[in-house]
Amino acid sequence: MRRQLVDILRHKGIQDERVLQAIGRLPRHWFLDPAFSDWAYRNLPFAIGCGQTISHPHTVAFQTELLRVSPRDKILEIGTGSGYQSAVLQMMGGRVWTIERHHALHLESRALLEDLGFGQIRCRHGDGYLGWPTEGPFDKILVTAGADHVPARLVDQLKWGGRMVIPVGDDTSQEMIVIDKDRYGAVRKSRHGAFAFVPFLSGTDSQSR
Ligand code: SAH
Repeated sequence: MRRQLVDILRHKGIQDERVLQAIGRLPRHWFLDPAFSDWAYRNLPFAIGCGQTISHPHTVAFQTELLRVSPRDKILEIGTGSGYQSAVLQMMGGRVWTIERHHALHLESRALLEDLGFGQIRCRHGDGYLGWPTEGPFDKILVTAGADHVPARLVDQLKWGGRMVIPVGDDTSQEMIVIDKDRYGAVRKSRHGAFAFVPFLSGTDSQSR
């Protein structure tokens, strides 16, 4: 089933063999409610609790390809969710720091990643708008929730020569934006098509309750 999923992703235009290899090796059903196991290798999103979703495999592959992960890259992910995307990044050789605003999801994904042998991934419950200043700057930043603007704090935490991938738009649709910071610190944006993510909300669940 994983091989079939890789064929679908290839067909939909994903070319980076390292991305395809990671998705081809990582069991996605580990990250889903067992009720969805039979469907885990279709190109579909699923509910993961707290009103959130694990993204379509194509979206994971597309964002990961755009991120151009190199082995040893220091990567900040915003929106841990199920932990699947963090595991894909680590399988590609990245060193991963990930932030989730829902405490329950944070606890669940941290325990799961640890159980699955991804204990090196640093998980934190917090507001991704603030980034992780004590650990930055990062080579790469990946935002997996739809923002209404590019947070300046995240751009600040990007290394010179670094790259950020972030969907930006409104609640229903966002454009995939790539931000490149060159080796002199200048920032350039490019656009990569429309997607639909759950919203990037400010604050944590405990602050908004
Ligand atoms: N990368 C996840 C996709 C999760 S969906 C996966 O592979 O499963 C996006 C996640 O972003 C949700 O879990 C949501 O709670 C989280 N999120 C939204 N706003 C956030 C914020 N300000 N800080 C941290 N996480 C946030």
